[in-house]
Amino acid sequence: MEGKIFEYLEKYDYENLFFFNDNQTGLKGVICVHDTTLGPATGGCRMWTYANEWDAIEDALRLGRGMTYKYAAAGIDLGGGKAVIIGDPKTQKSEALFRSFGRFINRLNGLYITGLDVGTTLRDMETMRLETPYVVTLPREFGGAGQISHYTALSVFQSMKACAKEKFGVDNLNGLRVAVQGIGSVGYNVVKYLVQEKAMITIADIDQDRVKEVSEEFGTNIETPDRIHALDVDIYSPCALGKVINDQSIEELKCQVVAGSANNQLAENKHGDYLEELGILYAPDYIANAGGTIFDTDRLKPGGFNEERGVQAVERVYETMTELIKISKDERIPTYRAADLLAERRIDSIGKAKQLRKEINISM
Ligand code: NAD
Repeated sequence: MEGKIFEYLEKYDYENLFFFNDNQTGLKGVICVHDTTLGPATGGCRMWTYANEWDAIEDALRLGRGMTYKYAAAGIDLGGGKAVIIGDPKTQKSEALFRSFGRFINRLNGLYITGLDVGTTLRDMETMRLETPYVVTLPREFGGAGQISHYTALSVFQSMKACAKEKFGVDNLNGLRVAVQGIGSVGYNVVKYLVQEKAMITIADIDQDRVKEVSEEFGTNIETPDRIHALDVDIYSPCALGKVINDQSIEELKCQVVAGSANNQLAENKHGDYLEELGILYAPDYIANAGGTIFDTDRLKPGGFNEERGVQAVERVYETMTELIKISKDERIPTYRAADLLAERRIDSIGKAKQLRKEINISM
């Protein structure tokens, strides 16, 4: 996209792109506002050392657009946006820098709401919160949802159940064989849900101590990280890295369902098409892993954060998944495309309803 910003903005229908510079703190930041049809543009703040400025701009734009789809498909009334701070999160962070960025965000007056992402921490969110109310991903004592990985795991689990209903005609995962790749914050909690359902679990992680610990705690089987995807199981759950469904791995899959939390599981869209051809049901990553975000953004609803309402909203990922499986079957398209369609239709219909409301107000 180098040198062709407006062409890119036009192609994907972006609303705004903001640049922030502060010589005093060394802050160089970009905020993308993709689409605010459903609500304020919301998405995490990433801090990263980019090879060049174009890479940073492109990252903000690509991620911001992804957030629009994520919220829309999940039934959340928020738009998509993303912030990027150009800098090394290990060496270039300071209180002054995050406060400065918080002030910049505040100037947008609620058009963009920020949160946690790669390279930023809860502490950074707390710092920004001193300058602006437009921050999510906060500890409970700051009115936020606290740790959210547990809720991401819940949406992965609900996605697995919806897929199992479709594939195996069952209402629970009792006795199903599930391979979990990566047992970090999300994967560990996915294992916990699977244990409750009496699934037959195999885990893998590059951290061998962690594997031993979790296996001892839950009595799970263990596989090596390079073979976990190829196990003869019912469900393969990628909860570590992206691009795990690629030219090589896809030939080795023996599962019937792929449902996990990792972002960007498909190396390319063609792998989503291929999964469909193979008869493997894929729970689109941004649907399956939306739980944390759904729970986290509950605080933006009237009356502030409500735990019970947040959990119920996360559990509804089961229905979203069921709906997109139906779209996929009715329209004979792969599930990853059905998820996009679900999001686009919601934005479109709500956009039209808003327009109608505006017209009625004007005519009155
Ligand atoms: P985490 O860092 O806590 O855990 C990741 C785990 O994967 C670690 O234990 C790591 O050792 C392991 N791992 C790394 N490479 C591996 C490999 N090649 N094979 C097997 N294991 C490997 O991260 P997390 O918060 O649990 O997130 C997991 C994935 O879900 C990430 O892709 C993340 O972007 C995505 N995600 C997380 C959340 C959330 O709420 N935390 C929300 C949305 C998406």
